[in-house]
Amino acid sequence: MTAHVSFEFYPPKTDEQRTQLDRAAARLKAHAPEYVSCTFGAGGSTLSYTSETVRHLNQHHGFEAAPHLSCVGGNREEIRELLKLYRAIGCRRIVALRGDLPSGMGFPGDLRYAAELVQLIRAEHGDRFRIEVAAYPETHPQAEDALADLRHFKAKVDAGADAAITQYFYNADAYFRFVDDARRLGVEVPIVPGIMPVSNFTQLRRFSEACGAEIPRWIGKRMQAFGDDAEAIREFGADLVAGLCRRLVAGGAPGLHFYTLNLARPTEAVLARL
Ligand code: FAD
Repeated sequence: MTAHVSFEFYPPKTDEQRTQLDRAAARLKAHAPEYVSCTFGAGGSTLSYTSETVRHLNQHHGFEAAPHLSCVGGNREEIRELLKLYRAIGCRRIVALRGDLPSGMGFPGDLRYAAELVQLIRAEHGDRFRIEVAAYPETHPQAEDALADLRHFKAKVDAGADAAITQYFYNADAYFRFVDDARRLGVEVPIVPGIMPVSNFTQLRRFSEACGAEIPRWIGKRMQAFGDDAEAIREFGADLVAGLCRRLVAGGAPGLHFYTLNLARPTEAVLARL
């Protein structure tokens, strides 16, 4: 397989979670990712966890580590401070997002959309950071419609994004169609598919409802049929996702970004099949 891989982790908060991340990071290192990224909780709750984790992934594990930075709920000064910190610890890449406000949080923040965050980073830091933004082959759940969402995606690229990582999906045609539509609008940056390996199907279904990713009916039905047979679910999931990756790469996807959820095994099972 010729495409590069990258891995996404979330910031651990307990000692147990830290051990889990270290174990996963050490095992996934064998796959030589181009970079790894670390998510960021909107509303400030994981503010310091993200930077600590990025530093740890870089210094302890030797990865190029990119923080996710979401602008919703924060003011310009907080965002500027974080950018200064990321510069100081040597980051060269940022995943710039709007984020989602936790329910009940009143202050929407100074920046309403990710495009404004990209603009701010470019205006104040020039080309210091490579900027990745999010893309939605199956359309972001809050978008007016698919075409408006595509135009808003283009606005992030016009504001200075270098590349995009997609929300996960299990339907390769949605990705290919999205890339074709983006190219027709004049978007030339790489659009890397986000890959969610399947391990815990109940959790996956919950996530998917929240973020608007579709699990095709036939996959749901097969999963249901496996019942509590975790091993059968893992095997089927790994075959399914490896097949998806193969199709994506054969169709021109420039890389694969794995949502690891801080677990090595589900991602390794997919990579082992490629
Ligand atoms: P935007 O690009 O700003 O778009 C958000 C919505 O607003 C879309 O519906 C869009 O169509 C619409 N929109 C954009 N511009 C306009 C405009 N000018 N007028 C009207 N409507 C507009 N969330 C986190 O909290 N932390 C993370 O670490 C995180 N990492 C992620 C990583 C990836 C690869 C992806 C795909 C998502 C991630 N998310 C994360 C989730 C993301 O924050 C949510 O999906 C969020 O709802 C949208 O973020 P965005 O950056 O795509 O927003």
